[in-house]
Amino acid sequence: MKIFFASTFLCAALFGCGNTEKANEQPFKMIAPVDFSHVKITDRFWAPRLQSHATTTLAVCIDQIENHTGRIRNFENAAKGKGEHSGIFFDDSDVYKALEGIAYTLKNHPDAELERKADEWIDKFAAAQQPDGYINTFYTLTGLDRRWQNMDKHEMYCAGHMIEAAVAYYQATGKRKLLDVSIKMADHMMSLFGPDKRHWVPGHEEIELALVKLYDVTGEEKYLDFANWLLEERGHGHGSKGGEGSWNLLYYQDDKPVREMTDIAGHAVRAMYLYCGMADVAALRRDTGYVDAMHRLWDDVTLRNMYITGGIGSSHHNEGFTEDFDLPNYDAYCETCASVGMVYWNWRMNQFTGDAKYVDVLERSMYNGALAGISLAGDLFFYVNPLASKGHHHRKAWYGCACCPSQISRFLPSIGNYIYGVSSDALWVNLYIGNTAEFEVNGKAVKLHQETNYPWEGAVTLTVESVAAPLPEAIRLRMPDWCASYTIAVNGETLASPVVEKGYAVLNRTWNAGDRIAIVFDMPVEAVAADPRVKENTGKRAIRRGPLVYCAEEADNRGHFNRIALSPQTTFQAAFQPALLNGVTSVTATDGDRSFTLIPYYAWDNREAGEMKVWIDYR
Ligand SMILES: [Zn+2]
Repeated sequence: MKIFFASTFLCAALFGCGNTEKANEQPFKMIAPVDFSHVKITDRFWAPRLQSHATTTLAVCIDQIENHTGRIRNFENAAKGKGEHSGIFFDDSDVYKALEGIAYTLKNHPDAELERKADEWIDKFAAAQQPDGYINTFYTLTGLDRRWQNMDKHEMYCAGHMIEAAVAYYQATGKRKLLDVSIKMADHMMSLFGPDKRHWVPGHEEIELALVKLYDVTGEEKYLDFANWLLEERGHGHGSKGGEGSWNLLYYQDDKPVREMTDIAGHAVRAMYLYCGMADVAALRRDTGYVDAMHRLWDDVTLRNMYITGGIGSSHHNEGFTEDFDLPNYDAYCETCASVGMVYWNWRMNQFTGDAKYVDVLERSMYNGALAGISLAGDLFFYVNPLASKGHHHRKAWYGCACCPSQISRFLPSIGNYIYGVSSDALWVNLYIGNTAEFEVNGKAVKLHQETNYPWEGAVTLTVESVAAPLPEAIRLRMPDWCASYTIAVNGETLASPVVEKGYAVLNRTWNAGDRIAIVFDMPVEAVAADPRVKENTGKRAIRRGPLVYCAEEADNRGHFNRIALSPQTTFQAAFQPALLNGVTSVTATDGDRSFTLIPYYAWDNREAGEMKVWIDYR
C-alpha cells in the first residue's frame, strides 16, 4: 500500500483525526474526506431530497418516536425509575439515530425549533442515566440486575448510536451535555470489560466505530484501545459464554478472529458496522492485518454476494448471507441499513487505497439500494428491498423494528461527505453532485463549484471559483465503472488521452481561480447480464443507465407486464419526464411493434400498487 503525507494542519483542522498519528508519521489512510458541512448541495436531484428530509422525514421520525411509539416515554419512565418499557429492547437506538440526523441537518440548515427539540430529548436521556453511567431504558425498566448478561441485547449497540449522536450534536452546536452522558457510559463499560476484566463480544456491532469517534473528539486514547479490544474479542469463544441467550458464531461474526476473516457471513448490517470499526481502528493503529482481511471480505461481498442494486444480505431468515451467488429477486432481503452500511464501508476503503472501485460500489448502493429505502415524498420507508414484487410490498411510515427509517434520517443529510477527498498531492472528486464546496487542500483555502444534471445527464463542469494560492495538487476525477467512454476538457481544451490510475483521471497542472474542467460521461442505456452462477437470473437482463438500475413497474405497463422481454434487437430511448415521479429519465424499450417502459429502481412503489421487476426475460 502506498502511503502519502498529508499535513497535520489539514488533518487536525478539518478532520480532527486524533492524536495517534505522531507529528511526523505518515497517515495510514491516503485520503482524508471533506466533511459534508463544507459542501452545499445545489442540484435538482439531491437538493429537493435534502429539503424534504428536513421538512418531512425528520418530522415523521419525531412524530413516531414521540407520539406513536413509546420510545421517548421509555426514557421518561427510566428517569423516574418506574413504569413499563414498551417496544423492542434496542428501540433507544432509533431515537439516537434520529437525533444524529437532526444534528447533521442543523449543521447545514440551522433551525431553532429543531434544536430545541433535540435539547429536550437530550435532557430526557441524561435524566435516564444511572448514577454509575449505565443508560439503556430496556434494562432500567425491566430489571437492572439482568443487565450485561446477554451479549445480544444490544446494550453496546445502543450506546454506540448514542455516542455517534452525541459527537454529531456536539460538532453541530458545541453543546456537550450528551457527549458527557456518552463519556460516562463509555467509562462505565470500560469499568466492567477489558483485558484484565470481563470478556464481551457485542452481539450487534456498532460500538467499535462509535468509540473511534469518541476518541476523535476527546483525544482520549483509552476509547480507541477499547474499540480495538472489542474487535479482538471476536473469534475466541467468548461469545455469550456464561450468559443468557444462544449464540450463533457465524450470525454474530464471532467464528474466527477478525483479522483472519475471508468470507462475509451472518447478519449483513452487523457485518458492515464491524468492517467500518475495523477500518477506523486500522487507520489509527496502522493495522495491515485488518486491512488485508477487509480486502478479502470486499472481494467476497462484491463478487459473490451483492445485488446489482448494491444491496446485500439476501436472506430473510438471518437478515444476511447464505451461500455465494444465492441472490433471489422476489425474496431478496437487502435491508436498507445494509445498503447504507455499504456506503459507509466503501467510503473508508477508498480512503485507504485511492481506488475508485470502492466509490463505484458506494455510488451503486447509494443511488439504488439505499435510495429505494425512502419514498419520493420522504415520509415512507422500505426495510426490505426486493428486486421483484407481485405488488404486495410497500413502504410504511414506520416499523416495529425501525432501524431503517432512522438510518435514512441520518444518512441523507450527510451525503455531502462522499463527494470530495484530499491527499498530500491531490484533490479527489468522487461523486458528481451539483454543489459549492469550500475547504482546504494542504493548507490552502479552495472554493469549488460543481454543476451537473447527474444522474440524468453525464455532463459535469467543475470550476475552481477561488483559491488562496495556486494549487500544485493534481485533481483526480473518478471515472465511473459504468462509463465506457468520456471526454475531459480543461479550460476549453480537450485532453487527448488523460492518464487514468485506479479509476481516476489524473489532471496534473497548477490550478488557479477560474480554471474549469468539463467532463462528459457517455450514459447509454445498457442491458447487463448477471454472473452466470446466479441461477435466478439465467436468461435475464437488467437495464442500467449511468449509476441507476432500472425496473419495469406495472403502472407503466398495464396489460402486458407479464409479457415484456428483451432481445438483442431491443432498442432503447431515454427521455426525461418532468411530471413523472418528481422528474425521472424513463427508458422505453422497443422490439418491433412492442415496447415497454422502465423507471429508476429507487422510484418504484410511489404510485398505485402493482408488480415490479429488475431482471427481465431475454430471448
Ligand atoms: Zn434497518
